[in-house]
Amino acid sequence: MQITNVTQYHLEHAMDEPFHPTWIPSYPQSIHECELFEIETDEGITGYAASPSFAGGLDYEAPLSYFLLGEDPHNITGIRKKLESIGLIGPRSWHVEHALWDIIGKDAGKPVYELLGGAHAEIPVYASTGQVMDADERIDYIERRIAEGFEAVKLRITDPEQTDIVREIREAFPELTLMVDANKGWAVRVMDDETAWSYSEALAVARDLESIGGVAWLEEPLDRHDFDGYVRLREATDIAIAGGEFDDGVWQLHEALERGAYDIIQPDAALATGIEGGKEIAAHAAQNGVEFVPHTWTNGLGFVANLHLVCAVGGRWCEYSIEPPWTPAVRDFMLTEPLTQEGGTIAPPSEPGLGVEIDPAILD
Ligand SMILES: [Mg+2]
Repeated sequence: MQITNVTQYHLEHAMDEPFHPTWIPSYPQSIHECELFEIETDEGITGYAASPSFAGGLDYEAPLSYFLLGEDPHNITGIRKKLESIGLIGPRSWHVEHALWDIIGKDAGKPVYELLGGAHAEIPVYASTGQVMDADERIDYIERRIAEGFEAVKLRITDPEQTDIVREIREAFPELTLMVDANKGWAVRVMDDETAWSYSEALAVARDLESIGGVAWLEEPLDRHDFDGYVRLREATDIAIAGGEFDDGVWQLHEALERGAYDIIQPDAALATGIEGGKEIAAHAAQNGVEFVPHTWTNGLGFVANLHLVCAVGGRWCEYSIEPPWTPAVRDFMLTEPLTQEGGTIAPPSEPGLGVEIDPAILD
């Protein structure tokens, strides 16, 4: 089998109202943008993948074609080396690897989780928010999520004083599992007003969350490259520290594990590792007693790729982004059917490959 064609589509989907994600500070989003990649083969099997996009996106169909045409998509490990070299001259392109798995699965008649050696399973989801919201408004949101079956919610805070919001939420929902994401690991700095936390601020937040109780983890309180800071923080506090969603490739995640930077490692298969690299990091994490809970907040294709991976490695949680106007329908607008949780769990599709269909109207 040979790759015969690579096509990139820039897709945009308008949201009902502006959305204020903490990772693009002071720059509201009103459009969900992504770059969709269609990879065709000489055997008539086509695979799909998508990357996040921003402000019209980067076009790299031509260089990608140069690296991929003529390759056998089954050669995941060999093609991953080529994808690394694309990263040297353009965008990191781990998402493209998902299309290869899609092709291999469709060729074999098996879903990706099965190709990875896993069995079909229902994975508990946690509701992942994207904005800082005051407690009153957030309580309404959480009541809706609990009614839908969620038993865990991840809150965002950007300032150390916002642990007060977490405390109010804890008082309103004593049994609810909470996670807290500070988003200090990275940001898209268009407006450049995002402020990092000092080590002592991060430590104060961690200790405050400890006193609040029932917080499953504190995510990215420090820059993603500050492994020393993460190690010190883990030594100084009992709360689990999570990070690594957007680290720069597999080597850096191995380094983080060797250094003992995280209790929970969260590499996104679309942003940091691809699927094969994610499986490798999950195995290393398991060996070191670190939990593997990948970030999934990109788009429907990125989400389903991470879902197959979590399922294959027996993960305990799947991040489920939901913060209206950001909904599963918005996240998955390029698919014929959104992937939705039922009663607090989600399972990967059992159809061959990634198991999702691209909406033909979108491609037209
Ligand atoms: Mg995060």
